[in-house]
Amino acid sequence: MVDVASFLGDNPYFSAGFGLLGVGAGLAVLRQGARRGADLLKRQLLVSMEIPSHDKSYQWVLGWMSRRGIEAMRAAEDGRGMPWARRQIARAVMPRHVAVQTSYKQHDNGSVSTAFTMVPGQGKHVFFFNGALMQVDRQRNAKMIDIQSAAPFETITLTTLSRDRSVFSQILSEAREFALSQNEGRTVLYTSFGPEWRPLGLPRKRRLLSSVVLDRGVSEGIVADVRDFIANGKWYDDRGIPYRRGYLLHGPPGSGKTSFIQALAGELGYNICILNLSERGLTDDRLSHLLTVAPERSLVLLEDIDAAFSRARQQSEQAAYQQSMVTFSGLLNALDGVASSDERIIFMTTNHIERLDPALIRPGRVDVKVLLDNASAHQIRRMFVRFYGTDCDALAQSFAAALHGHTVSTAQLQGHFVVHKKDAQSAVDNVGALLGQAACR
Ligand code: ADP
Repeated sequence: MVDVASFLGDNPYFSAGFGLLGVGAGLAVLRQGARRGADLLKRQLLVSMEIPSHDKSYQWVLGWMSRRGIEAMRAAEDGRGMPWARRQIARAVMPRHVAVQTSYKQHDNGSVSTAFTMVPGQGKHVFFFNGALMQVDRQRNAKMIDIQSAAPFETITLTTLSRDRSVFSQILSEAREFALSQNEGRTVLYTSFGPEWRPLGLPRKRRLLSSVVLDRGVSEGIVADVRDFIANGKWYDDRGIPYRRGYLLHGPPGSGKTSFIQALAGELGYNICILNLSERGLTDDRLSHLLTVAPERSLVLLEDIDAAFSRARQQSEQAAYQQSMVTFSGLLNALDGVASSDERIIFMTTNHIERLDPALIRPGRVDVKVLLDNASAHQIRRMFVRFYGTDCDALAQSFAAALHGHTVSTAQLQGHFVVHKKDAQSAVDNVGALLGQAACR
C-alpha cells in the first residue's frame, strides 16, 4: 500500500499548490486587514457631511462653491506674482466639470435678461477651506425622484481630513451669508411650484415706497399698521391669537395696488410669494400647505381675488372641485389655517370689491381694507412734481386744475409723463390727450 501522506508530501506539485494556497490565504487576510484598517482610519480621521437636494442649504452651498470655483480660476489665471507651488495648487483645485444654472428675469417693461452661474457638476471636486483639503462629491440618484420638486434626487457630500466637525458649520454659515448677501437690497419673488415655493427669476431691485404715489396718508397708514403687526408677535402669542393679518387693496385697475405691495416689501426688507388662485392643479390641500410653508419674512400676495372667486364661480363649487382647482370653502379654510405662531401677512387685491363674498373679507381674514382710487388732485400734483422736480409746482397746479372733474388713473398719468418726459410744459399743453382717455366724473 502506498503511504498517501508521504506520497503527497514528496509530490513537488502538491507542495507548491499548498504553498500557493497558503500565500493566497495570507494575502486575503492581509487585504481584509488593510481594508478594515483603512476603514478604521477613515472613520477616525475623516469627517463628512451629506446635504440632500431638498434641503435649503443645498442651493446655498452650490452657489458658494461656484463663487469659490471662480476665485480659484482667477487665482490660477492671474497668479503671475504667486509662488509656483501655490499656483499649481490653485490650478489643481479648479473645478473641471461644471454645470450651468440659468436664471431668467422679465422686467416690468417686458424685456428679459438672463444670468448664468457655473456650479460644480456631477462627480468629485477638491478645494481648500481654511487650509484644510476638502472633497466634494455631487451625486445624482436617477432612480429616486424628489417628490416635492419632481427633480432627480441629488446629494452633495463634503469630506475632509479632520476630526473637527465645526468646519462644516463654518461652511454652512459662510454659504448662507453669501446667499443672503446676493439678495441684499433686493426683493425675491416666489411662486408656487408643486407644494413648494420657488424664486421666480432673479431677485429684483427694491422699489422705493416714495415711487408709488398714493392719496394723503394712505401709504403711511398701511406701513404703520404692518410694522405694528410685525413688532407685536409676543402680544398675539400671549393671548393665543393666531399671528396673522390680512389686507385687501381694492380699486380700479392701474391705481398702484401691485406696485405698492412691491414697494412695501422693499421697505420692510420682505420678499413676496405670489399665488395665482385660478391656477389649474392648485387644490385646497396644496393651498393650505403653501400658506403654512411660505418663506420667512414674506408677504403672500393673492392677486385679482375676484377673478378666482366671484359669487358666480362659487356656485359651481362642485365643478371647481372636480377640475382640481381651489374651492371657495377651501380658500376660507386655508386663510383661517391652523393657529400657528408663525407670522403670516396676506395681501389680496381686487378691482371689484362688490363681487366678493362678505365671508371672504370679514375681519380675521381681511383686517384692513384700503381703497386705492383713481388719481386725486393731491396725487396728480405729487406725481407731476416727482417727474419734473419741485420747481414745477406752479405747472403741477395748473395740470391738476385742467384734470379737475375727470377720472384718470395713476397708471395713465405715468404714461402721459413718460411721453412728455423732457418737458413739463408740454405735459400741461397736451393734457387734452389724457382727457381723451379719461372718463368725465
Ligand atoms: P394695479 O395693481 O392697481 O392694477 P399697478 O401697480 O400694476 O396697478 O400699476 C401699473 C403701472 O402704473 C405701474 O407701472 C406703476 O408704476 C404705475 N402706477 C400705478 N399707480 C401708481 C401710483 N399710485 N404711483 C406711481 N405709479 C403708479
